[in-house]
Amino acid sequence: MTLIFFIAGLIIGSFLNVVVYRLRLTETILGRSHCPHCKAKIKWYDNIPLLSFVLLRAKCRTCNGVISWRYPLVELFTGIIFALVGKYFFVLGNNFSYWQTGFYLLIFSLFLVLLSYDWQFMEMPVIIFWILLGVSVTYLIFISLNEYLIGVDFYRLSLFSGLIGGVISWTFFFLLVFFSKEKWMGWGDVYVGFLAGLILGWQNIMLGLLLSFMIGSICAIIIVVLKKGTMKSQIPFIPFLVMGTIITVFINQAFPEIIRYLYF
Ligand SMILES: [Zn+2]
Repeated sequence: MTLIFFIAGLIIGSFLNVVVYRLRLTETILGRSHCPHCKAKIKWYDNIPLLSFVLLRAKCRTCNGVISWRYPLVELFTGIIFALVGKYFFVLGNNFSYWQTGFYLLIFSLFLVLLSYDWQFMEMPVIIFWILLGVSVTYLIFISLNEYLIGVDFYRLSLFSGLIGGVISWTFFFLLVFFSKEKWMGWGDVYVGFLAGLILGWQNIMLGLLLSFMIGSICAIIIVVLKKGTMKSQIPFIPFLVMGTIITVFINQAFPEIIRYLYF
């Protein structure tokens, strides 16, 4: 079952690359992919996730233009994340798990679009933010109604926890952007920070932010060492925020005892 989720993830990942590319060009999402250099239509057998990239040695068949490593990486990330959602959330015959699986597959896919887009263009596509916000709030209302019906206390409802997490995280990034005059962070980070808090809730947002900054620092060091670049070169932060959030969701689901240990 995990393998099916992995393969589905590779295919969706390939589609997400197209979404990012088309979002930039504001074309329609449907339609065939083409080479960013020579615009030649990519044949179906050259468009197999991961495999084609390796077989074509990262080059376009028509013009020999270099294909970015970002494409297979996004496909691989999507595959791994889908496999993990399948492993930790999907339970055959359990209706609630279908909702959870669907929700996480959808928001993680959209998160990966934000990751890839920010990585390339240092910007946040606002439309993806609004979709994520709408989907997350709807899901939290749905979950909270169920919790309310089985008698969960008001202050323990997921919606309540998510809103508090969102406000904490939003305030944190807002202050960073405001006092650094956008030098350390951008406004996109403030919005995605709110989403991270909404999804993780106040219980987990600290861990999510901690992981984001840890992954970010490690990558920054690697970039400075590899490129011998200066510390001044700007690095987009949304990719790390997205990774920190996704990893935290899995830690919370797979090893809830770690989360409990962190707080008590
Ligand atoms: Zn080409």
